[in-house]
Amino acid sequence: MSSDATTLETEVLIIGGGVTGTGIMRDLALRGIHSLLIDKRDLCAGASGGNHGLLHSGGRYVSTDPAAAMECRQENALLKRLAPQCIETAGGLFVAVEGDDPAFAEQFPALCRNAGIDCEELSPAEARRLEPVLSDKLFKACRVPDATIDPFHLALLNVDHARLINGSVYRPHTEVLRFEMADGEIRAAICHDHLHKRQITIRARQFVNAGGAWAMNIARLADCADVRLLYAKGTILVSNDRLAHHVINRLRPPGDGDILVPGGTVSLLGTTSTRVDDLENVGPTAEEVDRNIREGAAMIPALAEARYIRAFSRVRPLLQAAGNSSDRTASRGFALLDHASQGLGNFCTITGGKLTTFRLMAEKASDLVAGRLGNRQACLTASEPLPDDEACSWTEPATALKHWHRDRDADDMILCECEMLPQSAIEQIFAGSPGSEQERTIEAVALRSRAGKGPCQGSFCGIRIGSWLYDQGHYRDATGLAHMRDFFDERFKGQRCVIWGQQAAQMELAEALHCGLLGLDTLKEDG
Ligand SMILES: Cc1cc2nc3c(=O)[nH]c(=O)nc-3n(C[C@H](O)[C@H](O)[C@H](O)COP(=O)(O)OP(=O)(O)OC[C@H]3O[C@@H](n4cnc5c(N)ncnc54)[C@H](O)[C@@H]3O)c2cc1C
Repeated sequence: MSSDATTLETEVLIIGGGVTGTGIMRDLALRGIHSLLIDKRDLCAGASGGNHGLLHSGGRYVSTDPAAAMECRQENALLKRLAPQCIETAGGLFVAVEGDDPAFAEQFPALCRNAGIDCEELSPAEARRLEPVLSDKLFKACRVPDATIDPFHLALLNVDHARLINGSVYRPHTEVLRFEMADGEIRAAICHDHLHKRQITIRARQFVNAGGAWAMNIARLADCADVRLLYAKGTILVSNDRLAHHVINRLRPPGDGDILVPGGTVSLLGTTSTRVDDLENVGPTAEEVDRNIREGAAMIPALAEARYIRAFSRVRPLLQAAGNSSDRTASRGFALLDHASQGLGNFCTITGGKLTTFRLMAEKASDLVAGRLGNRQACLTASEPLPDDEACSWTEPATALKHWHRDRDADDMILCECEMLPQSAIEQIFAGSPGSEQERTIEAVALRSRAGKGPCQGSFCGIRIGSWLYDQGHYRDATGLAHMRDFFDERFKGQRCVIWGQQAAQMELAEALHCGLLGLDTLKEDG
């Protein structure tokens, strides 16, 4: 790394801190290649931080995309073995209810078999014994090896391992604005450092675009017109408690509101699919919330009455293929573009795919980059287990609870009561969780832990963590209050479309605290 703070140097610059970018960072490090990973926001700011967290068995794609189904099956088995600390082996059920197409349900086990996916047929009574919340209108059920995966834990561990292996660096809040190009190569990326509000230049030998839905925009900065994406927004709802232990899929062609995923102590219901043009202003609508609940309740009636604490939306980049008009049948595979046809020899783009297939995507991109650098070391991520690190484990539900039971330290103040997060967890995050050394804010803590994820949606812990950060000297002026307001605004965005019943009372309390007591709504923009 150059000593000049506004010019950095590395072998490979990776743009985009989603699971794909972090996977590439670790893969390259295991081959002995130094990289710098940047994100315009922070880890998992894109689709990686706003998905179902389903580690697909492949079952969902057996009818629409058998190749993607097989990729999912292979990666599912591999990740369960190599990154078990990020995975809950919940198991999955595919269930058909009255009104669903019996012919489709009938052919499902054979389609799974063709893709090599284990599929056990269950009687409706057996399925309801496993999951009593299932509708009594169930007529067909199959069990598959679906699981759940925590993308935050995964991304943090990937970065952590890469920096441990060879000092590769992760830098949040750094946005590529343009590239300097000469003689068929990118020489440098000109970036804006949002934290220090200055321009920085990053020089590298190879440049990787892992920008997810933003990949087309990033490629265009390098005059590459060969990345063609369509955008499909998906909205997911989070319930107050865990409604089922298996991932439950509707046994029909993929549609809206047909997957319920257990996520630790909550359940996630989704997802819708709506074409959008704008990547920056996406949020859940009341109509999408209603649609998810209506469709989901046909499979699990309790979903109609459940308490929802939040909804969120993210965008899937769909690879544009001629003659394909449906978002649901668009390929869930990925694309690696080497941009040779665009006259560039040291730039590539990897986009599309799934959380489930991130490792494979990272392997393919790293094979290309390593080859271009003359590095012959083979990919090791399919055989090297992902090492654990306690500082990265606070995103896991129940980690804080287990810690509290184990230590019972009365001086270790609980800052987030919904998730039982103690102050020592935040100290540990600041000491060892990647990226937090750059920024010590409520938002940075929330991303690296369960803070703000419970029923109060940060109403209390936002105040407590903010106050604690002031006590520790991380904030000295009104900046902390502005960060508190931004944190609450962000949580409110996800709650405004699910405010009814008990959650409405919770919101009134939050408003009384944040506006009535703290007056955060009157805070001036400049602090
Ligand atoms: C609603 C929804 C549900 C899903 N559910 C599942 C699921 O259950 N299971 C599954 O396997 N897959 C699921 N997926 C797919 C999965 O989330 C994505 O395939 C995966 O997260 C993509 O990761 P990525 O790293 O490629 O992109 P992203 O996670 O989108 O990362 C791209 C990053 O690039 C950064 N960036 C953009 N522009 C710039 C710039 N100019 N400079 C610097 N950084 C920049 C962004 O901030 C972002 O963090 C779902 C997707 C959606 C949208």
